[in-house]
Amino acid sequence: MKITRLHTYRVAPRWMFLKVETDEGISGWGEPVIEGRARTVEAAVHEFAEALVGRDPRDINDLWQTMYRSNFYRGGAILMSAIAGIDQALWDIKGKALGVPVYQLLGGKVRDRMKVYSWVGGDRPADIVEHMQRLMEGGFDTFKLNGTEEMTMLDSPRAVDAAVAKVAAVHEALGSQVSFGLDFHGRVAAPMAKRLLKELEPYKPLFVEEPVLAEQAEHYPRLAAATSIPLAAGERMYSRFEFKRVLQEGGISILQPDLSHAGGITECHKIAAMAEAYDVAFAPHCPLGPVALAACLQVDFTAWNAVLQEQSMGIHYNRDAELLDYVVNKDDFRIEGGYMRALPLPGLGVEIDEERVVHASRNAPDWRNPVWRHLDGSVAEW
Ligand SMILES: [Mg+2]
Repeated sequence: MKITRLHTYRVAPRWMFLKVETDEGISGWGEPVIEGRARTVEAAVHEFAEALVGRDPRDINDLWQTMYRSNFYRGGAILMSAIAGIDQALWDIKGKALGVPVYQLLGGKVRDRMKVYSWVGGDRPADIVEHMQRLMEGGFDTFKLNGTEEMTMLDSPRAVDAAVAKVAAVHEALGSQVSFGLDFHGRVAAPMAKRLLKELEPYKPLFVEEPVLAEQAEHYPRLAAATSIPLAAGERMYSRFEFKRVLQEGGISILQPDLSHAGGITECHKIAAMAEAYDVAFAPHCPLGPVALAACLQVDFTAWNAVLQEQSMGIHYNRDAELLDYVVNKDDFRIEGGYMRALPLPGLGVEIDEERVVHASRNAPDWRNPVWRHLDGSVAEW
């Protein structure tokens, strides 16, 4: 079997699909993208294609190492996202060629169903309790919400009180009926992170995500020492080599690599195993589309330490398209009682509605995240 062509489709809301075709009629799908820089990743995918066309797609390990090591410069958000989407498509092809789901190729399932959570609120959250109650009717009991809006390096007690009041309101209305993680989104710098974590502790959040930016990772062990709240991070780390440092330094209880950013299934399967060796949980980041989610689930079902799966149904970023709009086998993605089953089809387990993807790619928006500014006019982290 030989790879013949790589075709990319940028689509709403902010995703990109990759179709890898072979000379035997089997094709695989991947989702290589960095939100807001889809065209840059697309260019990287097509540069990698030079080394892939003509090769056997089943040689995933060698193709991965070729993409990673054959260029002197490697790593980072763009290149690792391009590799991630290509890697997903290669696993999809291999599973389809052998007639088995990818989790079988990774050694088989360690669980019957996977816990998933849902986002509530948006960037500027309001009516969180009401939103949670609506999702609870569908069986969800675990959620994530943004912890704060923009926050300066030394913000006022008022800003801290506002963040805490939101969480207190959820706690008061729903108590132990729900669990929720809080995403600081890298909006909080170390001086305020310490204070916020302390004030949020009584409300027992399940975890706090990106308490500070990944590039300030040296603060994680110190912050963890000052709070009982489990700390989570990983969506802005792109390889084993970055996760290695975080695991060695300690402080993070939940690793959240993104299957579309951190080298795909090949790399994240290894990252999960590294985390297990450190007694660290695994909870893949996935605010993206159905191929990315399918890739996450393949790893979740084989990783003993996988505790939670993010998914983007109803997420505030999904304007003009929803998670399952481009999926034929929607029923396989059913969430029951807050859990998903392993996807039963061979390969990644997602059947893509190609016609719809082609159509949507004709006028795809170039999504950009908002640029926020503090009251003094300086740029704020979003
Ligand atoms: Mg996050």
